[in-house]
Amino acid sequence: MSVLLQIGRRPPQWPPASAADGHPEPGDQHAPNAAPGAAAEAHLFHSAHGAHLFVVDGSRVYDLPGEVEEQVRSWLDPGGVTGLAPGPLADLGLVPGTSRRIDGRPLDPPPLSALSLNVMQACNMSCAYCYADEGRFGGSARVMHREVAFAAVDRLLAESRPGADVVVGFMGGEPLLAADLVGEVTAYAARAAPAVGRRVRFSLTTNLTELRPADARLLADHPFAVSVSLDGDRERNDALRRLPGGASSYDRVRAGLDVFARHGRPRHLAARVTVTPTGGRLLDVLDHVIGLGFDEVGFAAVVASPDPTLEFTGSRFETFLEYMVECGEMALRELVAGRRYPFGNFETALAQIHRGSHRPYPCGAGAGYLSAAANGDLFACHRLVDDPDFAMGSVTAGPDHTARAAHLARGHVDRMSPCRSCWARYLCGGGCYHEVARRGRPGCDYIRGWLDFCLRAYVELSAARPDYFAGLSATPAPGGSGSDPTTVAR
Ligand code: SF4
Ligand code: SF4
Repeated sequence: MSVLLQIGRRPPQWPPASAADGHPEPGDQHAPNAAPGAAAEAHLFHSAHGAHLFVVDGSRVYDLPGEVEEQVRSWLDPGGVTGLAPGPLADLGLVPGTSRRIDGRPLDPPPLSALSLNVMQACNMSCAYCYADEGRFGGSARVMHREVAFAAVDRLLAESRPGADVVVGFMGGEPLLAADLVGEVTAYAARAAPAVGRRVRFSLTTNLTELRPADARLLADHPFAVSVSLDGDRERNDALRRLPGGASSYDRVRAGLDVFARHGRPRHLAARVTVTPTGGRLLDVLDHVIGLGFDEVGFAAVVASPDPTLEFTGSRFETFLEYMVECGEMALRELVAGRRYPFGNFETALAQIHRGSHRPYPCGAGAGYLSAAANGDLFACHRLVDDPDFAMGSVTAGPDHTARAAHLARGHVDRMSPCRSCWARYLCGGGCYHEVARRGRPGCDYIRGWLDFCLRAYVELSAARPDYFAGLSATPAPGGSGSDPTTVAR
């Protein structure tokens, strides 16, 4: 007889919908997991409704009656001697020898599902924290030639699964400095994809300081998810997001939003707020940017920057967590009251927990997702362009299967220390490859603290507003944050 109730009552997604998400292929689930110790298998947390257990395998959440809570606490204690009774073990699917959803075997490189094109490796801004050297990635400014861009689209279509949805992304530098090329490539992909039985969507990441009416119409006429970099109100944004000559980039973004309003708005318009340790509280920032009408507003902490004073360190992550939870509490109150409050980090985490997301990689980089440099060379992602350690072939020769397989073998979260003993590993995936390569993993306590909060919020929102989750599909919505190569934990 089952005594433990699973919250959400939606079974974790199995078999996985797509190996391109970083899931193992069906059939890979039978080997024992190498993760050590009970604390790597589950996480005990509390909400307003009592004690709960997050089970790592399948990202499942259970209510824990009081008598079971004590057993579980002792079982999770590294110094504890008490095992878990057979009843709860069976309820939680933790009986030794049962098959698991993820094991230590790496994913085989899947078909491509997304390719970003660095159409302009140069930028009109010089933001103080930019990881990309204003888009040049340490080299000289470069523009992608039309032939290379078309070949990249052809390569994506050729390497994708028949009938698949594919995403063509435009990155930089600032891609709208090559807006005419973006328009040509979009039109080409929109024609070419259906001709070979693929559906194509688009994404574009921009500083929005150069938007023309014709660009707005293009982004509205095709299925674009547009992500705008904006760090808050005028004072806060302009402190680090600099235009030459001292002009206000905030004013230019507001002008760009007016162009959208008058000439056409993309179907999904998100704001990405970059956070440095010098910035202060985040709730005012979130309120301000949501008030500008974005569909989603997300924070990204600077972990790797050419200016180390703008990077988060261990103690500064504690303050960041405090500010993030303050924003999450606000979002929770608003959602409980039935009002929309599109805090992207929070909503993405809730959706992933509800779906039972579990994956051994942080993102699709090097798996279903690659990025093409202006010269046509392929890399694991847009932040790793021109990094030889993440080189993955070229649009003319095709993706380098051996390099991708080696990358996926190295990056499996169960094969890395300390990740293999971390309860958050199948939501986190082991950390952004770009950040880990440059800084290691300075933010793990922050990641676990944020997920602990999101688990509590998930339980409380499930109790107060089960209807909130009824609208969530089993797969991420087109254009939503789940379709971006980002991770739930950041
Ligand atoms: S990067 Fe840190 S938080 Fe993420 S799985 Fe690894 S140890 Fe856990
Ligand atoms: S999480 Fe990091 S490695 Fe993955 S796509 Fe994003 S920037 Fe690239």
